[in-house]
Amino acid sequence: MSPSKTSTLSFDTFYNIVDGKQRSSKEIHHGVNPSTGEELWDVPIGSKQDLEDAVAAGKKAFPAWAATPIEKRKELLQKFTDLFNEHTTEFTELLCKEAGKPKKFAGIEVAGVGGFISFHNTLNLPEEKFEDDEKVVTTRFTPLGVVGAICPWNFPLILAVGKFAPGLLTGNTVILKPSPFTPYTALKLVELAQQVFPPGVLQAVGGNNELGALLTTHPDIAKISFTGSIATGKKVMEASAKTLKRVTLELGGNDASIILPDVDIEKVAPEVVMGAFQNTGQVCVATKRIYIHEKIYKPFLEAMVKFTATLKTGAPDSEAPLGPIQNQMQFDKVKSFFADSKAKGYKFAAGTPDVSASKGFFIQPTIIDNPPNDSRIISEEPFGPIVPTQPWSDLDEVIARANDTNTGLGACVWGKDVAAAEKVALRLEAGSVFVNSWEKPTPQAIFGGHKESGIGGEWGNTGLLSFCNAHVIHVYKS
Ligand code: NAD
Repeated sequence: MSPSKTSTLSFDTFYNIVDGKQRSSKEIHHGVNPSTGEELWDVPIGSKQDLEDAVAAGKKAFPAWAATPIEKRKELLQKFTDLFNEHTTEFTELLCKEAGKPKKFAGIEVAGVGGFISFHNTLNLPEEKFEDDEKVVTTRFTPLGVVGAICPWNFPLILAVGKFAPGLLTGNTVILKPSPFTPYTALKLVELAQQVFPPGVLQAVGGNNELGALLTTHPDIAKISFTGSIATGKKVMEASAKTLKRVTLELGGNDASIILPDVDIEKVAPEVVMGAFQNTGQVCVATKRIYIHEKIYKPFLEAMVKFTATLKTGAPDSEAPLGPIQNQMQFDKVKSFFADSKAKGYKFAAGTPDVSASKGFFIQPTIIDNPPNDSRIISEEPFGPIVPTQPWSDLDEVIARANDTNTGLGACVWGKDVAAAEKVALRLEAGSVFVNSWEKPTPQAIFGGHKESGIGGEWGNTGLLSFCNAHVIHVYKS
């Protein structure tokens, strides 16, 4: 540990954080290191009482936090970032262990914590004024109360920060519930935050899925910010309806990448491959269907296959750019796409149909060449390193094919003629469309899905408003 550090933190004991204090539990669980299959440290499973206490503490802390000037809240968020930055090495190692991410990519996620907070600290809530002879009408945006932030396992740190940075900035108090598969970094993050924020402002109660469900029905939670699967998102919305909670749902996707015929094949094909296999395909906005113009279909696919062969999988401290699948449940799910593609006789252009057994949940990146439209691999989100390609010849037809899905999270268009590519982008039904890049969401813009990929969105100036009520004062002049 470097002598300049102002805080000490143990990275092998983990607690829920309620009202500023560490809490153990009678019941414990543990994550599994996906690179080795070994059990990781014990983690408490939060009880109903832990949640009740956290909600009560969040409610108690809310009035003072909401009344704290936004500049002061930003100051504390920055102070937290500075403290976090003293521990980036430990957080990177922890993230490698709990999520199996290659060290380089774990480092990028860890660096993103400061990036997310710093960007949010440049934002301000709008205030609108209307005036006529009769009245002055002022619209302000005020915090909601206690926010329940329910997170998935694929980006345990950045998706936690993506919720609590805008949540706290806007004056809400936040209770974080990490995924049971990846509880460690998020719990430690919130433990560290107690050195900066007043008790009850940022808390963490980790546990199982039932705990998530309890958050969605609690009458004193004003909003659920949920990131996860479409199936769970629907349950969250249904449960939240009973108390008319605000909900933001960031759900799954089945992103299409359209490759126009004028692309530089050698340059673009590896980028498209990275869009599909980044984080071993475990990205909500990974490319999940690739549509290549028929004129270049063969050479483009060949270039993709060539690059894919260079993408090794391995443990975090190897040089491999791809890690394992994060957990057994997801590993089995991804394998079922391999089994289905094999059983239906689809062509494996890269990778092999049989996922061989190993201690970790490793799967080689795989490309399926031109499966039919109604195949599972086209119509469902595998959330792993397997992607289909199909040729196209008519632009209207391929846009219709790309849009022919119940999801609409992200999409990509690749073309030398940028204006033409942007025209295609405008016709794609997705929350975030990338032109000449694979999907790289940033905090600078709202991130959310169309159709069943979600409701509302977070990040960017527009995203701040999802943590607020509109509050309008009408002042009459006489
Ligand atoms: P999941 O839906 O299984 O779990 C997400 C979280 O919800 C976990 O913390 C879980 O414990 C909790 N949960 C489970 N049941 C609940 C219930 N009934 N009520 C409340 N909470 C409950 O999702 P996952 O497997 O962790 O994540 C993978 C999915 O998330 C993929 O579909 C992926 O596309 C999606 N995802 C979306 C985004 C996005 O921003 N749109 C980002 C990452 C992942």
